[in-house]
Amino acid sequence: MTYPERAAAPAILPDRTGVASLMAGIRGVVFRPGDDGYDEARKVWNGMIDRHPAFIVRCAGTADVIACVNLAREQELPIAIRGGGHNVAGSAVCDDGIVVDLTAMKGIEVDPGDQTVRARPGLLWGEFDRETQAFGLATTGGIVTHTGIAGLTLGGGIGWLMRRHGLTCDNLVAADVVLADGQFLRASERENADLLWGLRGGGGNFGIVTAFQYRLHAVGPQVLAGAILHPAERAPEVLRFYRDYIATAPDELTTIVNLRKAPPALFLPPHLHGRAVVVIAVCYAGSIDDGERILAPLRRFGEPLIDLIEPKAYTAQQGMFDASVPHGLRYYWKSHYFGRLSDAAIDTLVAHAWQTPSPISYTILFHLGGAIRHVDGAATAFEDRSAEHALNINAVWSDPQATEAQVAWAQSFWEATHPHSTGGVYVNFLGEDGEARVRAAYGPDKYRRLAALKRKYDPGNLFRLNQNIPAALEPE
Ligand SMILES: Cc1cc2nc3c(=O)[nH]c(=O)nc-3n(C[C@H](O)[C@H](O)[C@H](O)COP(=O)(O)OP(=O)(O)OC[C@H]3O[C@@H](n4cnc5c(N)ncnc54)[C@H](O)[C@@H]3O)c2cc1C
Repeated sequence: MTYPERAAAPAILPDRTGVASLMAGIRGVVFRPGDDGYDEARKVWNGMIDRHPAFIVRCAGTADVIACVNLAREQELPIAIRGGGHNVAGSAVCDDGIVVDLTAMKGIEVDPGDQTVRARPGLLWGEFDRETQAFGLATTGGIVTHTGIAGLTLGGGIGWLMRRHGLTCDNLVAADVVLADGQFLRASERENADLLWGLRGGGGNFGIVTAFQYRLHAVGPQVLAGAILHPAERAPEVLRFYRDYIATAPDELTTIVNLRKAPPALFLPPHLHGRAVVVIAVCYAGSIDDGERILAPLRRFGEPLIDLIEPKAYTAQQGMFDASVPHGLRYYWKSHYFGRLSDAAIDTLVAHAWQTPSPISYTILFHLGGAIRHVDGAATAFEDRSAEHALNINAVWSDPQATEAQVAWAQSFWEATHPHSTGGVYVNFLGEDGEARVRAAYGPDKYRRLAALKRKYDPGNLFRLNQNIPAALEPE
């Protein structure tokens, strides 16, 4: 991150009486250092993050959110916003300031007639999908069920349905927002449309979203989905075949490649556990019969170690990767967008992916395009819709002594792939990469437009613990 976290935080709260009286009015739960539950409440998904907020306010509703925002502004305290707590940089928690913990705000109401849903920001994707799938409906969500809907939506949102139904933020039709001055606004195409534009990819820069309204689509409940595994020794030809295969894939098909060692998962036979593999994971968001036809060439290619593609519940597909990314391990990510895979890009991926010193690290390559490109590039803050792939190099380990080697692997891999990248990056895959990478995530035009929006909605940069858009632009 580019912000001076500790330097900005006062060691002693300036007005203890005011703080105490405001906290007493909170309807939710307040955790202070030393309270039961404080240490649990300050943990986020990434075990690398160990921060000590002055207060964690587990909000019961919008009134609590407004109280926190007013307190942070008046007392000049850092304020972090927590949805699912999955941001890899740990931006959901801060030192010495207030954490607006939204995890208890889990209301969700599906309108099956309208095919929309109103969802509160504490929901995780597994909880969201369970409610919408009860009506045979879904919208694009993350590929791990324990990720929060809030941070993911606000950064863009890529997932199994993206090539058919667009990004999560493309399906965001309205949001309720608490601004930095404590004012409550509704953003939609009709009211405060500029704010809705910014919330569709601009992250938590403009305010705290207390409710999201999404468009839903008929999905499943059964989809043809799963994964096919090839040995890493054949990765060069498998990835070349894959590149040519997806070049003509219909929008209904989303594929994700995962280069890793096979985990000791129950759905894999023991002889494959620990074997270096190319995983081609797929989800066909259309009829099972059409999916069988479309996927046949992929399934016929080469001699896969195992073919796990089958008709299955969409909710089961959403949970496929859950066990490989548990809470509390140490995570470090490096990411960028790719165009169409060149032979040289494939060879670089193959040369580095399995050199990780950890058996649980992995490299993931999302195939983008499809419906993401059908949306006008200027219509949302999200950038860049022309990218073909998002590459995410994920170092994962548990031993603190291994940190240096893990980070070095991810960095050198990222540097080797950089010449093949578009130069852009998906903002939700950034860690503490600094201002230049935030600019790269939005490109110069959108970055300027986002800064203008920041000047309008948060001129004092109260909401700065994020991939920050400053109100005043420094020259590039
Ligand atoms: C295991 C795992 C799987 C992932 N899979 C995907 C995936 O499939 N697709 C994808 O697109 N991304 C994915 N991501 C990345 C994900 O989009 C980001 O980590 C995102 O920040 C997670 O949202 P969250 O609410 O859980 O995060 P949090 O850490 O709670 O929040 C992150 C930031 O979002 C902002 N924010 C959160 N809630 C609000 C709110 N209500 N109002 C305003 N701002 C808010 C704040 O700036 C906050 O710091 C994944 C991440 C992980 C760790």
